[in-house]
Amino acid sequence: MKSEFDICIIGAGMAGATIAAYLAPKGVKIALIDHCYKEKKRIVGELLQPGAVLSLDQMGLGNLLEGFDAQPVDGYSLLQGDEKITIPYPDHYKGMGLHNGRFLQKIRASALQNESVKQIHGKALQLLENERHEIIGVSYRESLTSEIKSIYAPLTITSDGFFSNFRDELSNNKKSVTSYFIGLILNDCDMPFPKHGHVFLSGPTPFICYPISKHEVRLLIDFPGDQLPRKLLLQAHLDANVTPYIPESMLASYEKAMQEGGFKVMPNHYMAAKPIIRKGAVMLGDALNMRHPLTGGGLTAVFSDIQILSAHLLAMPDFYNTDLIHDKIEAYYRDRQHANANLNVLANALYGVMSNDLLKTAVFKYLQCGGTDAQESIAILAGLNRNHYSLIKQFICLAVFGAFDLVRQSIRNLPKAAKILWDAFLIIKPLAKNELSFSAVLSGYFKK
Ligand SMILES: Cc1cc2nc3c(=O)[nH]c(=O)nc-3n(C[C@H](O)[C@H](O)[C@H](O)COP(=O)(O)OP(=O)(O)OC[C@H]3O[C@@H](n4cnc5c(N)ncnc54)[C@H](O)[C@@H]3O)c2cc1C
Repeated sequence: MKSEFDICIIGAGMAGATIAAYLAPKGVKIALIDHCYKEKKRIVGELLQPGAVLSLDQMGLGNLLEGFDAQPVDGYSLLQGDEKITIPYPDHYKGMGLHNGRFLQKIRASALQNESVKQIHGKALQLLENERHEIIGVSYRESLTSEIKSIYAPLTITSDGFFSNFRDELSNNKKSVTSYFIGLILNDCDMPFPKHGHVFLSGPTPFICYPISKHEVRLLIDFPGDQLPRKLLLQAHLDANVTPYIPESMLASYEKAMQEGGFKVMPNHYMAAKPIIRKGAVMLGDALNMRHPLTGGGLTAVFSDIQILSAHLLAMPDFYNTDLIHDKIEAYYRDRQHANANLNVLANALYGVMSNDLLKTAVFKYLQCGGTDAQESIAILAGLNRNHYSLIKQFICLAVFGAFDLVRQSIRNLPKAAKILWDAFLIIKPLAKNELSFSAVLSGYFKK
């Protein structure tokens, strides 16, 4: 069936709007559908790792980071007790801290300025199928009229975020809530290391902060478990596990923000990508794959997916050959698995490590040693090193370092050393099973 559009994109969020902004100037005809185009205040997607910034630059969209007070980030710092370390990003790469809502509006404006993009205000309801069960478009409820309408396109991209309505039809994913993030904005706050992402390890669970504008710092506090924190529990958590560990220089801004009470709470999901490959549709963004946001890897994965999917789609002469589109979707799912595995494993492994007293101390001391191991680790975090062998090597080195360090202090620490190794194994095993293959790790060794 010939259609007015080449692609129908469900969700003009970070993934949907960005792929539209990239493909539209190349002449791809796009229907972009979302039920809300207003700027939102969200606590998600505010730190772009250098890998995400690099992807934007490679797509020619780097200019979208300009003009709304986004702040460069030079590296990471870790703080535990009175000790602090900083690790710069490699080769002077930079990350960016920003207001997600402002950034998204810039991406949307960039997409919508193209004549080949039709903006649709509506809530996507159902994927439409032909008699061969191939997906041929989507039905939606138009926001203004509440009428139910349909859009047809040879390819539908479902990028409707972490509560995706279309996941059941296109994947076998199981999502789980690892923890919650409580988000606060600290005004006029002096972080211990300006232009750095901070990870605070002194309490039982981590909290992080980074600049999101010249005068604002985002604080994200982890609340462990899969139950939404109730008000009293949340306050008790902040009082016992966070407030005592806020650095002196940040305390006044923190206390003011606490008094004003404007915090937001979001669930942190883990969901490996398990797509069902169906003709006519493909998933992108959080609809397909999620990881813990501790490492700020979400948008690195999203933008990298956009590059991979777009490269495959743009290699086609047009969008008329549905068999060819199907081959391209298969190739995208295969390639993206390799590209994103390090980001996914690292995010959840690091969350496991930082919620474990022995491993947390080990990671701090390990990175404190500096040198090539610290550089390799930060390159993985930055989304610049996607080599699976590097990731596994660093994880094993960290666990062995931690065990050895304990035994070096006293032979009586032997049981603790064994526990570190066992805990590390329990953290990495399910993640590696979901995300990595032995052959991919081995080929990483030869590519190094
Ligand atoms: C607490 C938290 C903090 C995070 N921090 C970071 C960070 O610092 N750095 C980072 O890189 N990543 C971070 N992430 C992850 C990152 O924000 C996500 O990976 C990214 O936003 C996913 O983009 P998306 O387009 O898939 O989803 P979204 O950006 O959520 O977009 C989904 C869009 O779909 C629309 N939509 C939904 N349903 C429908 C429907 N039925 N019809 C039409 N439209 C629909 C929505 O209105 C929305 O516009 C964080 C995540 C969390 C939870």
